[in-house]
Amino acid sequence: MDVNGLNCTVFGLGKSGLATVALLARRGAVVRASDQRPLAEIPEAAAVLEAARARFVPQGPEAMDGAGLAILSPGVPPELPLFAQARAAGLTLLGDVEFASRFLRGRVLAITGSNGKTTTTALCGHLLEAAGLPVKVGGNIGTPLAAFVEDTREDSWTVLELSSFQTQMLTSMRIHVGVALNVTPDHLDRHGSFENYAAAKARMFAFQQPEDHAVLNHADPVTAGYAAEMRAQVRWFQTSGPLPSGFWLQDGTLYADGASWMPASEIPLRGLHNVENVLAAGCAAVLAGVPLETARRAVATFPGVEHRIEFVRRLGGVDYFNDSKATNVDAAIKALESFDSGLWVILGGKDKGSDYTPLAPLLRARARGVLLVGAAAGLIRSHLEPALGGATPLFDSGDLAAALREAHARARAGDTVLLAPACASFDQFTSYEHRGQVFKQLVLALEEPSP
Ligand code: ADP
Repeated sequence: MDVNGLNCTVFGLGKSGLATVALLARRGAVVRASDQRPLAEIPEAAAVLEAARARFVPQGPEAMDGAGLAILSPGVPPELPLFAQARAAGLTLLGDVEFASRFLRGRVLAITGSNGKTTTTALCGHLLEAAGLPVKVGGNIGTPLAAFVEDTREDSWTVLELSSFQTQMLTSMRIHVGVALNVTPDHLDRHGSFENYAAAKARMFAFQQPEDHAVLNHADPVTAGYAAEMRAQVRWFQTSGPLPSGFWLQDGTLYADGASWMPASEIPLRGLHNVENVLAAGCAAVLAGVPLETARRAVATFPGVEHRIEFVRRLGGVDYFNDSKATNVDAAIKALESFDSGLWVILGGKDKGSDYTPLAPLLRARARGVLLVGAAAGLIRSHLEPALGGATPLFDSGDLAAALREAHARARAGDTVLLAPACASFDQFTSYEHRGQVFKQLVLALEEPSP
């Protein structure tokens, strides 16, 4: 795509917006950069805008006056009236990934889904790397596509995590191997309805060719339904037993097209949801040319992703796990399901209007104690107390340090202390990453109990 000399406006100055500003400038465009926040509130933007000679303009129709192209970051809703008007007036509006893809060389393996995207994307990158394929990983994870797209080569693979906000804006991007993990209600505030959200994710497959592949979860009704409209060749995976073809789990063994691939016990990540991620990644990696045996060995060395049921330390026979990314009740359930018993679970943070009672059966069966922290502590207690009926004690710890002191004092060898808060972090932390970092520092500072 030639943008040399073209007037372009970038909306949304987060990580991907700023990478888009820089890409446009490198390609010779005249760039304006816009955000609903004042520039003073985006300290990281100043240097990027200066280097790109980009002018900051407040968000509004005037930001596109005389523009030939507007590019929207994933956080900017394309449904805003301002963009509908611009579109009606004939202006081209592209999403950040769609725009960056115009500069892409080589092939693309992309992953979408409501849960497990980051883990599966990182794992796909790891498997392709293990086979010696030239690969770059990014998108919604780590580095935005715009930041590295010019480094892609004809013989390289680009492995991308794509959110529904990014797939929604695709208008031509070809994805050679596309993976849909699952679609459960999320982001309905932005997409309006579950149907719209499911359709937004399905756009990832809209520009595939017959020789491309779609890797779909057979057990998820929405992703299974995608097959009906698929131009590419469908490959299935599921954890719930055999399929006519594809990748599946049966009696503790992972199968690839009927042949035994590896025992589930070789997977270094906990939980059935991660077996699902390994099946999807394995299937996609094989389609990208990774030999099955290479993939098997590489799965065993996958270090996992930080803050996702991440092992921190064993101290006095007690294991400490950080699942700060469990920012909602569903994710916390997945974390609890990943351990059999002996749990000390740290719950709480900023409430998102959740119902915490679905946690009770798992806590009752698997936890020795629950440590409540943060702003939502009282609310969580009010949901759990009646449901637990005294079976599992609840402690009001207040913050992570106190929760860890309590757990450390009470846990016995063989127990597990798990941070799986089921809440956002913004009451006491700047992000789930920050919360996870603080947790890990506190765990590493704990001392061996005296004999
Ligand atoms: P995403 O990038 O889609 O948010 P992550 O890999 O960061 O996904 O995982 C987020 C949380 O979702 C994890 O803490 C885990 O509890 C849960 N999760 C991971 N994989 C799956 C899956 N395949 N199905 C359901 N839940 C999952």
